[in-house]
Amino acid sequence: MMPEDETLRPTQVRVDLAALTHNLALLRAHAGGRPVMAVVKANAYGHGLVEVARHYESCGVDSFGVALLEEGLTLREAGITRPILVFGGIPAVQMPELLRHGLELTAPSVAKLEQIDAAAAATGLRARVHLKIDTGMGRIGVQYFNAETLLEASLRCRHVEVAGVYSHFANADAADLGHARLQLERFLEALTFYERRGLPCPTRHIANSAALLQLPESHLDLVRPGIVLYGVTPGPECPLALPLRPALTWRSRVVYFKVLPAGHPVGYGSAWCSDRPERLVTVPCGYGDGYPRALSNCAEVLIGGRRCPIAGKICMDQFMAALGEGSAYNGDEVVLVGCQDGECIRVEELAERAGTIAYEILTSINARVPRVYA
Ligand SMILES: *Cc1c(COP(=O)(O)O)cnc(C)c1O
Repeated sequence: MMPEDETLRPTQVRVDLAALTHNLALLRAHAGGRPVMAVVKANAYGHGLVEVARHYESCGVDSFGVALLEEGLTLREAGITRPILVFGGIPAVQMPELLRHGLELTAPSVAKLEQIDAAAAATGLRARVHLKIDTGMGRIGVQYFNAETLLEASLRCRHVEVAGVYSHFANADAADLGHARLQLERFLEALTFYERRGLPCPTRHIANSAALLQLPESHLDLVRPGIVLYGVTPGPECPLALPLRPALTWRSRVVYFKVLPAGHPVGYGSAWCSDRPERLVTVPCGYGDGYPRALSNCAEVLIGGRRCPIAGKICMDQFMAALGEGSAYNGDEVVLVGCQDGECIRVEELAERAGTIAYEILTSINARVPRVYA
């Protein structure tokens, strides 16, 4: 899709592919040249699964991480050939499909591992698996104090190749990294299994974006960044120490301009009202596109390089913004996320105002919003 395509609806997400390239290069250097598994789950954090993966494959990224079988299949159908690890727990019925498409599976328990082994035997394929150890996240994975049972079982599986062993941090974005360090310690302790048996250790990985930024000793054999690839910080306590560039711009255009007399309410619930005549514009984007309704009366957009407050409740398909001393014409650009004439609104700002995290803002931008790549 070309950025010049003005036949698209005016509300668009633009993804700056050069920013993605830049971020990958910076992060790879920060990880001392270790292999990078680019995490592209949830539509590549809203940036577009296939386009982002194709771009990163062309940049030479080492592998991809997704949450679901379906995301992995979409990538294979799009011609992505690099290894793809499916992080999530996999129902047994999905295993043959995963194996047929050469996707790597997560084995979070002995029972799941044995199911994978059986599915591989039945399909005549070798399964590539990553053993998952729960070191303190409490999500999926064998408990660290029982990890030996899973590692041991993997040695008995005849149709399984262990491509990696991994864990996931619960608090790597915190100012206090004590818990993250404890998780890393537990992980490394579990991995002494291989040393004790005189066996080669499979690829070890635990570093998400926050750990990649804040905890170099966790980089191990491979890093698994998600949100930082897109130039967004993992959390308010985890500042971007690298000059990463946000790749996503969300913009729309003014479709309606009006002047309301003093005391004229705006929007559902009449939740906004001015005691002076007010110039307002209507913007064709709403919570039906994933622009959070929680931003009603509390976020700003950029029009003519100025910050303009949202007036009233966000509707499903539209919202209103007050121009204050500024002016605007139909067709003028409205920036929801991104920069305009040197003024910028970051996803992190919207997340804070909406009482959520940047991940949720990004992944909520839905399929109704066309993506353009430049
Ligand atoms: C989502 C996810 C990541 C990436 O997380 P970020 O915080 O976006 O870097 C890494 N590993 C696993 C297992 C994940 O589920």
